[in-house]
Amino acid sequence: MPKHIVSGLNYLAAINLRKEGYLQKEIAEALGMDRSTVSHYINGRNISWDSIEIAEVLSKLCPEDFLKITYTLTKDTTKTRIIIKTLKDFNFRPKVKDSCIGCGLCVDTCLMGAVELNNLKAQIDSNWCCGCRMCESRCPTNSIEILEVEETEGL
Ligand code: SF4
Ligand code: SF4
Repeated sequence: MPKHIVSGLNYLAAINLRKEGYLQKEIAEALGMDRSTVSHYINGRNISWDSIEIAEVLSKLCPEDFLKITYTLTKDTTKTRIIIKTLKDFNFRPKVKDSCIGCGLCVDTCLMGAVELNNLKAQIDSNWCCGCRMCESRCPTNSIEILEVEETEGL
């Protein structure tokens, strides 16, 4: 069953990327799939509609649950990042305050790979932040704020 749910997530992500103008080849590379499967998905073939429904329900969960479940199912950070980024409904603007001590806990916590240390201060790439807030709750100095914003961005 988990494989079918991953297929549903791949399907939704592939369809969204296609709508955003990505080529089949680019979608296949981004999702780690072969081009013929992407072609089938785009044409609505070889996919279980139950799997799509389950994937749609997952994508409506809170960002933390959606991220953790997707990672548990795919066991693949790269695929998880693309699926979450493509299907998330909201955008977030992370802020790191001057109180950051550069401990790196947020870097280790972020499954989206959105955080890095620069001169011993955390830097968060809003393009990849999915708003799960796991970094916020892990930070020992309360230096992270995750704000929801309205605009959308591509891959
Ligand atoms: S967890 Fe907090 S203190 Fe540590 S690097 Fe990240 S923002 Fe800075
Ligand atoms: S909220 Fe924090 S942990 Fe979650 S994706 Fe954004 S930067 Fe990463």
